[in-house]
Amino acid sequence: TSRFAQFKLVLLGESAVGKSSIVHRFVKNTFDELRESTIGAAFLTQTITIPETDTTIKFEIWDTAGQERYKSLAPMYYRNANAALCVYDITSRVSFNRAQDWIKELRKQAPEGIVIALVGNKSDLSDNREVELSEVEEYVEQYNSEATGGGSTIIIAECSAKTGDGVLEVFNRIGRALPVE
Ligand code: GDP
Ligand code: MG
Repeated sequence: TSRFAQFKLVLLGESAVGKSSIVHRFVKNTFDELRESTIGAAFLTQTITIPETDTTIKFEIWDTAGQERYKSLAPMYYRNANAALCVYDITSRVSFNRAQDWIKELRKQAPEGIVIALVGNKSDLSDNREVELSEVEEYVEQYNSEATGGGSTIIIAECSAKTGDGVLEVFNRIGRALPVE
């Protein structure tokens, strides 16, 4: 028998890393070079199916604005989230540091058992890469070993909202990590 589940997902990360572009690629399969920056937050939904378990998952997606002046709004969105995408831009070390700050905050303030994905976007710009996947793996390994209590493992992924490479896979992996009864 098929199953249906609905989950709240929030995107966090520095401004211009491509959060909105990832969401639009996932929801509409489109990409704009000149996406207008998000004001406050945007809400979209998309449904995926997981064939192995015959499960349909509806994501309720909150795409937040990365600017500092909106930072205080973030808890409103992650407080009751089931999953969080912490996005950085692989060509920006600063944005990777910022994504780590979000993970720290989530581990302190978000619901226990939240599924966290650390996602490096703009993989099409790998000629200008500043963040290696190996150091992301090292960071997560280190983080998991230090985490106390029932913190869930962090999913690591790279994608390109521009080419679409790896985007659906991120959401599929999150869908598989979420508890469906
Ligand atoms: P947000 O502020 O995190 O929501 O970032 P946006 O989605 O608004 O994207 C910021 C800029 O990065 C825009 O000019 C996008 O066209 C560009 N961008 C987003 N994703 C990618 C990507 O995967 N590759 C490249 N080359 N550019 C991207
Ligand atoms: Mg945005």
